Amino acid sequence: MTDCPYPDCAGEVRISSGVGYCPACWQPVFECPKCGARNRAFAKFCRRCKAACGFPERAPLPEGAALLAALAGLPGEVLADDQFWVAPASCCGYLWSISTRGRVWRINPAERTAEIAANLGDAFGNAPFCIRALAMEKGRPPAPHLIAADGRSVRSVDLADRRVFDWIAASNGGRLLSNIQTDGYLSVEADGEHVYALERRDAGCYLLRRNVASEGLDEFFVSAGPVGGPFLLDGRVCVYSRASLFVLGDAGLVELRFLRAALAIMNPREARGFQLASGMPPWHAPRGGDYVYLPGIADQSAAYLCLNVVAHPARSTNVPVTAGAAFSRDTEDRLVMTTPGGIGVFDGPVPHTRHLEQLVPKGAEYVDGRFTAVFVKTAGAGEKIRFYYDDKTQDAPLPAAAEKIDIIGFLRAGSCLVLAYFKTKDSSLGFAVWEI
Ligand SMILES: [Zn+2]
Ligand SMILES: [Zn+2]
Repeated sequence: MTDCPYPDCAGEVRISSGVGYCPACWQPVFECPKCGARNRAFAKFCRRCKAACGFPERAPLPEGAALLAALAGLPGEVLADDQFWVAPASCCGYLWSISTRGRVWRINPAERTAEIAANLGDAFGNAPFCIRALAMEKGRPPAPHLIAADGRSVRSVDLADRRVFDWIAASNGGRLLSNIQTDGYLSVEADGEHVYALERRDAGCYLLRRNVASEGLDEFFVSAGPVGGPFLLDGRVCVYSRASLFVLGDAGLVELRFLRAALAIMNPREARGFQLASGMPPWHAPRGGDYVYLPGIADQSAAYLCLNVVAHPARSTNVPVTAGAAFSRDTEDRLVMTTPGGIGVFDGPVPHTRHLEQLVPKGAEYVDGRFTAVFVKTAGAGEKIRFYYDDKTQDAPLPAAAEKIDIIGFLRAGSCLVLAYFKTKDSSLGFAVWEI
């Protein structure tokens, strides 16, 4: 039965958990949750029943042993041959990233290909980007955009049709924070109707907000010192200084001081107590959660500053960091801590921990938050990934076995689970791909 939704293709799609791809044209496909029809990656309405729909970014992973079995084979390999400083992100069955020269790369893990989808400009891609749906026109569904900044402007590319848009221009004498090596921990953010970025001027740092439909531009003074962010927490935009978190509300920025004079870490040079995943922003604000975790110093020791801004009044907890712990986020967007002999999944200020005797973390590790499987780089030459599930373990060779790599983390892209890494030698991006 030919059911590929792409033009001029007679393929038969492969689908599991509602997502898949066509093995003839290799494009991602998803199933309409109402009628089961196969739809193209960027479809906003079902081609058969016309119901509003969208690519399910959080399709469930197989549980435990089934996941372990799916990870048994030799993974496929994809390389994006460019220089990257920032981690890729998943959207509509593809992975996306931006190189330090501003090229937007699209990785198709099912097809094992990487290509340049757009070019934003030379100095884009020197700090983390975001992918968000922007509602630019009334009556049209929002479209996913990759949003990034250089010192002078914030731009986005519509991932479906690859059109490039300009959103924010730096003011006279101002410079947008856009370089992780010189500006510390920063990113850009968007909440559907607005795009946000940080700008530094003589007097200090400002949060800029641009309305994507009306073109209105607002600014909010944050601090004279270093500033991190912006990021979304429960739909609200937050930034932070060394001493405080700031939450943007109807009346402007509301300041929440960190508990007991704790201080946030503002750049990678200060983050020695933490093993953080490469290329990712250091803060973690789980989707749909009430908390943000910021790396910091409390009582002279490394700690996560954990703030709940949804509670009234806001609650703040300092979570001490165990020596030797590594941090990552799982495919359900939870903060995960790996320590020698154990793993912990954070849900609020207290991690749910589990003892795993054979665990020896090296660098940022990964665990599935449901404790169904644990993925760890093996000690030694670093050529293997070790998967744990209960008392079972399984090693998988990595395609880039002979080279030194710096692991970013595991990402879900359509029907694939992908391990993303930087090649140490040239900062190119590599991907090990398992179909699940
Ligand atoms: Zn096809
Ligand atoms: Zn349908």
